[in-house]
Amino acid sequence: MAIKLKPVHLEAIKKHGEATFPYECCGLLLGRIIDGEKILEETYAAENAKEPGTQHNRFLIPPRAMLQAERYAREKKLDVLGFYHSHPNAEARPSQFDLDHAWPFYSYVIVSVKENKAQAVNSWKMTEDRSRFDREEIVTL
Ligand SMILES: [Zn+2]
Repeated sequence: MAIKLKPVHLEAIKKHGEATFPYECCGLLLGRIIDGEKILEETYAAENAKEPGTQHNRFLIPPRAMLQAERYAREKKLDVLGFYHSHPNAEARPSQFDLDHAWPFYSYVIVSVKENKAQAVNSWKMTEDRSRFDREEIVTL
């Protein structure tokens, strides 16, 4: 399965990552599944629950923010397709922490941010046996 999105979505994720640098940003990917394809409609920025100083390499969306996001998605008749977050001064691939906190089905989009500048953006999907992530193709519409 690929995730289809528009350039404006990539821009939003990159800008969020640059704005929170040197801390991680995180948010939700809202959209629709049509004929087995994930179509991104909106990125939803969430606050990072971790206190300053512990945000590097860790992101966690607070339950309250998660509920707000899910309510928002329902109102707009969108599904939660996955999550995005940034890796300050690190590559756009999942860490062990990411693997430990992931679920199957969801897309995990990671943007690498180096010295305030967003670099690569990759999407990942955890395998069914939860042992690792596979790359998921990003198709720009
Ligand atoms: Zn991560």
